[in-house]
This record gives sequence, C-alpha cells and structure tokens, in this order.
Amino acid sequence: MNGKVILVGAGPGDKGLLTLRGAEVLQNAEVVVYDRLVGADVLAMIPDDAERIDVGKQSNRHPVPQERINEILVEKAREGKQVVRLKGGDCYLFGRGGEEVEELVTAGVPFEVVPGVTSAMSAPAYAGIPVTHRDFCSSVHIVTAHAKRGGELHIDFESLLKTGGTLVFLMGVSALGFVMNGLLAAGAPPDLPAAVVENGTRYNQRRLVATVGTLERKTEEMGLQSPAIILVGKVCTLADTLDWFSKLPLHGKHVVVTRPRERAGTLADRLRALGAGVTEYPCIETVETPEAPLPDDLRAYHWVVLTSPAGVPAMRHALEAHGTDLRALYGCRFACIGQGTAKALAEYGIRADYVPEHFDAKHLAQGLCDIVHADERVLILRAAQGTPELTEILTAGGVAYDEAAVYETRYRSAQSDALTAHIAAGTVDFVTFTSASTVHAFVQSAPHAAVNTFRAVCIGDATAAAAKTYGMNIITAKNATIDDMIACILEGS
Ligand code: SAH
Repeated sequence: MNGKVILVGAGPGDKGLLTLRGAEVLQNAEVVVYDRLVGADVLAMIPDDAERIDVGKQSNRHPVPQERINEILVEKAREGKQVVRLKGGDCYLFGRGGEEVEELVTAGVPFEVVPGVTSAMSAPAYAGIPVTHRDFCSSVHIVTAHAKRGGELHIDFESLLKTGGTLVFLMGVSALGFVMNGLLAAGAPPDLPAAVVENGTRYNQRRLVATVGTLERKTEEMGLQSPAIILVGKVCTLADTLDWFSKLPLHGKHVVVTRPRERAGTLADRLRALGAGVTEYPCIETVETPEAPLPDDLRAYHWVVLTSPAGVPAMRHALEAHGTDLRALYGCRFACIGQGTAKALAEYGIRADYVPEHFDAKHLAQGLCDIVHADERVLILRAAQGTPELTEILTAGGVAYDEAAVYETRYRSAQSDALTAHIAAGTVDFVTFTSASTVHAFVQSAPHAAVNTFRAVCIGDATAAAAKTYGMNIITAKNATIDDMIACILEGS
C-alpha cells in the first residue's frame, strides 16, 4: 500500500477542538509526528500500536531541525505508512506547514491537509474576547512576533494601527516589550485595550486584560509565559462580560483518572466538561481469561454474582469458550455489585435481581446471605484477584458457592515520569480510584510520587482502605458511584 502524509491541525489544546476529520485520521495513523504545542489529551488519542515521534520545538531551541522533520515525513511515507503530522492549532498558521508540504510535493509523496482550530481565534474565545465585533472593528490581523532565526523582527505597526482592526500576535511573549513599544511609537494611545491569554482553552488558561501602556509590566507581574497570544483592540473590554470558561466549576483543577482505558471515558469526559484538566492514567487493564474452567454443570446454580462491569462480557466469552451461551444460565438470578455492573448486564437483556444499597463487596455478600436459600448454590464470576471479603462473608453465612476467574486485572506500566513530575510540582489536585487494584497499580507505577500532595477520590470503602495504607489524603464517594465521585471533587474544590 502507498504511504501518505496527512497534516492535521490538532487545535489549541482542548480535546474537543480537534476536528472530526482530524480524529478520524489519527485513529488510523501508523506513525504520528507531533509538536510541543499539541495538547496531551489529543496525544492520548494516538493508537497504542502507532509509532510516536516527538519533534517538539522549544522556543529558540529546535531539538529536531526542520530539514530532519521533512526527511522523517518522506521516509515514513515511502515505507508505505499512513503518517499523521500533528501540529498545534491550525497546521498552516505559523507552523511551517507550507514548507513541509512543499517537500512532500518535491518528493512525490501523496498528502492531505486537515485544517485545525487556531489559537489565534480560540484562545480569545475561551477568554471572553470575540476577535471582531461590529461596534468596535471590522478586521482582525494575525501577526507573528517571532523573527526568522538570525533575522530581525520587522512589523509595520503604523499600517496595522491604521486598519483599526483587532491585532493578534503569536509567539510574542518574549517580544512583548518590543511589540507594545512599537505600537506606542506608531501612535497607539497608551490606554488602548490589550490582553494576554496563556495556555488558551486548557484547564490552566490564564488571562490578563490591560492596556498597551501597562501590558508588559502586568504580564511580568503575573509571570505569564509561552504559549500565549497577545491581543490588541477594543474587543478586549468585553472579556469580563463574555467570560465563561474560567467560571466552569472545575476550572484550574487537574484530575488524574486511573481507570482502565476502556472505562475511563465517561468519568474523564464529564470532568472535562466541568472545566477540569484530566490526565487519563490507565494503570490497570482487565484481560479476559475465557479458557479458565467454568464448572461442568451450570444447571447446579441458582445465582450468578458479578462484581464489576468487566465481568459481564467476560462471562459471555467464558460461556462461548465452553461451547455454550447465556442460555446455560437459564433460570439463574443475577446479583450485581453496583449500578454500573447492572447496566452492563442490562445490555445483554438481563435485569439484575439484586444490587445492594451500598455498592461494595461487603454489602453484596451480606445481602446474599439474607436472600440466598439454604438449598441454593451461587456462582461467582469475577477477577482472579477478587477480594476475599466476599467469599469469607458467604462462607460465614453458610452460603454454598463456587468461583470462576473469568478475567484478570493486570498492572499496566503506564508512563510514570510525567505523572511523578506533575505530582512533585503540586499540579495534581485529585486522583480518582475506582478499585483497590487501581490504588496499588498507581503506587507501583509511580513509586517516587509523593502521594499526600493530592486528594485521593475513592469509589468505596475497600478502595479507601487501600489508599489509606499508603498515607493518601482520602475522600470517599458516599454511594460508590461515578456521580458521587464527581460530587466529591466538586465539593473538595
Ligand atoms: N499553528 C498554531 C500557531 C503556531 S505558532 C495555531 O494555529 O495556533 C506558536 C504560537 O501559537 C505560540 O507561541 C502562541 O503564541 C500560540 N499558541 C499556540 N497554542 C496556544 C494556546 N493554547 N494558548 C495561547 N497561545 C497559543
């Protein structure tokens, strides 16, 4: 198959601002070549089996020279690979995208371009600043404040001012004084409104609204840094009125979600919608073990017990591996540890007969002791490492049961360096744990992390007990649901 390079604008950081087309081609990428400004949430969408090449450019330092980036794109495409070249914001706005595509044309490599949402428009929008407004201006001008290497920066400030339009400067933090002085020298009134938006559209976005005369001093006072855009024009005065992003309840909060990748989605996305920055850190994975033996005579059972949503498809696959299907459990009643598991079961058309009021193994076992009749037998389908509490209580209560381990929970060696650095820097506010195994796996994968610098949000008592053994600061969800975990984070913020 012929290789191809697809230039994709990754947007300014917020995952939701990646285009549908961008997400689609990323899903099918075999090689992804990306820059420093591509948001972590977008990078997390790169398929596990794709090769990742970081060519991130630091300001004034180009770890991978542009010529080499061009070569990489051509080489990988010639190997027949689907190459996605991810660039921050829009791929053609000050991103050297044009140069890269020229190289592809010269080399005869097929290519496509997927434009992206530029920071020049979106960072202002998330800061309450519409780049044009009929009452104030009729044009917007996007200008780079970064000179070609070795060259001098030439900006025609007089012409820019004459337009009366909004001015947006990119790559301008280090040249802020130069830009403001240039505008003043060209006749800009010192009280002309101006603004800086740092980390636009990200959970840690910061905004400064001032004037051309005061912007440099105030930027220094706030310690604003790259990546940031500079805006000049009357539209900046709308910032407070049209602000919305910084008002989201979890704005500025950073939450690490440790669920397995396939289950992280809802919790992570709901937290993002509330304004939080979310790092998905799937430190465990569930691996089904359908070849594990089920008891020969499944008709001997009256109850089937499931202790996690992962157990539901694992049950089905175990039955299939044994040459049968769900009908082998005909007539059985089903007990589920919580609503999440009951919901997973409902997808197979089966309604849970019993879910304890409090969603944990202890209450599940106690409930079963009350409702399982003396002549009935229980089949527990769960992880190989399931908590002994469940079976201890059943034994003590005289309930007859058998167990089959239909899946295993494995620790994933997640990349812990970045996480440890975040924790050390005190930039993690909450870590969510949805099972005791996620707690152990988290500590094992980041052994040097100071685990008392953040709040550990635990789904239930067993998880909280595990977190306590490591000395974490714990908040426990009232009713062991994802909703309650989110409520805990909102209350704790
Ligand atoms: N192609 C990019 C711009 C690349 S130049 C785009 O369309 O957005 C890099 C500059 O973009 C940075 O120096 C900064 O000025 C701006 N920038 C990129 N992402 C940003 C963000 N999230 N918030 C503020 N400015 C950003």
